[in-house]
Amino acid sequence: MAVFLEEIRKYRTPRIVAALERAADALDLDLSGKRTALVKPNLVTGKSPRSAVVTHPSVTEAVIVFLRKRGITEITIADGPGIGLNSEWVFEKSGYTALARRLDVPLVSFNDLPRRARTWKYGEIGVPELLEDVDLYVNVPKLKTHGYSTMTLSIKNHKGMLSQEDKKLDHQLGLHEPLVEQAKLRPADLVVLDGIVGLEGDGPLNGRPIRSGVFAVSANMLELDAAAARLAGFDPLEITHLRIAGDEGLGTLDPELLGSAPTHSFVRANEEFGRVANIYSWRDPTACSMCIDAFGGAVSLAVKDPRNWFSLAPKLLYWGLIGKLHILQGRQAKLPLANGKVVCFGKCTRDMAKREGLIHVAGCPPTAEEVAKTLRKEL
Ligand code: SF4
Repeated sequence: MAVFLEEIRKYRTPRIVAALERAADALDLDLSGKRTALVKPNLVTGKSPRSAVVTHPSVTEAVIVFLRKRGITEITIADGPGIGLNSEWVFEKSGYTALARRLDVPLVSFNDLPRRARTWKYGEIGVPELLEDVDLYVNVPKLKTHGYSTMTLSIKNHKGMLSQEDKKLDHQLGLHEPLVEQAKLRPADLVVLDGIVGLEGDGPLNGRPIRSGVFAVSANMLELDAAAARLAGFDPLEITHLRIAGDEGLGTLDPELLGSAPTHSFVRANEEFGRVANIYSWRDPTACSMCIDAFGGAVSLAVKDPRNWFSLAPKLLYWGLIGKLHILQGRQAKLPLANGKVVCFGKCTRDMAKREGLIHVAGCPPTAEEVAKTLRKEL
C-alpha cells in the first residue's frame, strides 16, 4: 500500500475535498458498491478546533462531501470522548454539533451504541455494531504528540471506539500492545490525517498548536501513522505501538509515499511529567487521560466560577507559582522525589494516598467539581 501526501496550509473545505480527489486517484481507491460509512474524528475532549486538540471540523466536512460525491449516502460521524466526559458537551465545544446539523449527518457517541462481544488477546471486548457493519470506516485522526504513546495518529484514535470500562482496562494492560490488538479487530478502510495544524509538546490534551501543513491519506492505518511520524521528526520504531504493529504484520513502517508534505520536528511530550509553572503532573502509563485532565477542569472552574475566586483560585496561584504541587494518577503512581504538596487523583491512587497521608480526590475519574471541592478544603 501507499500513503498520499499533500501540503495544505488552511482549513478550507473545497481545498481539502480537491486533495481527497487527488488522493483517491493516486491510491486507486475503489469505493464502488459502498453505501454506508462511519467517519471517526478525534474528539477526545471538548476543546475548540483552534486548540489543535480535536480533528478540525473542516477536514471531517471535506471527507463527508467527498464520500457523498462518490455515492455514499448513509454517513454517520461517531466518536467516544474521554472517560467521564459528556459526549454532547464535547461535540458542542469542538464544533461538531453545528457541523452535523449543517450537513444533516447523524452525530453519535460510541458510548451510546450497542456493542458485540469479541474475543481478543485479553479476553472479551465490546466493538460497536455500527463500526463493524458499515461498508466503509474512515478514521480521521489529528497529528499530535502524546505523553504516553509518543504520538497519537490513527491507531491511537481508533481507541475512541471502546466502551469507558474497556478504555480504563486498556491503560492498565499497558496501552501499546492493546492498541495494536484493537486495530486488528476492525481496521479502518480509509485514513485521512488532519496535520494541517498539529499539536506539539504536552499532548494529547494540552500542548502547542503548530502550523505543520500536513495532509495525508492512506488505506492502511499503520502506514499512514509511520509516514506522519517521520514528517513530525520521529522514527516510527521509537513509537512502541507502531513498532509492535509492524512486527505483527499490520503494514510496513516504510510505505511508498505519493506526493509530499512539509517536515517539522515536533517538540515531544515530556514522558516523565507535564508541567505548568510549579504544577507537575507525573506520568503513569496506567492512568487514563481523563484522570490526567481532571485537574485542568478544576482550574477552569477556579477561573470561571465566582464562588471559587476567593476560595480556590488564590490557593492554586500560591501552590502553582510559589509552592510546588505534584499531581499523581494511575495504578503505578510513584511518590516524586521533590518537595511540595502531593494530590492523588482517582480510585487507583486511593490506597497510596491513605498509606502516605496524601490529599486524595475520589472518583474514577474524579469530576472537576470533586477536584475543586477537595482542593478548596485540603490545600
Ligand atoms: S481512577 Fe483514573 S486512572 Fe484509575 S481507572 Fe479510574 S479514570 Fe483510570
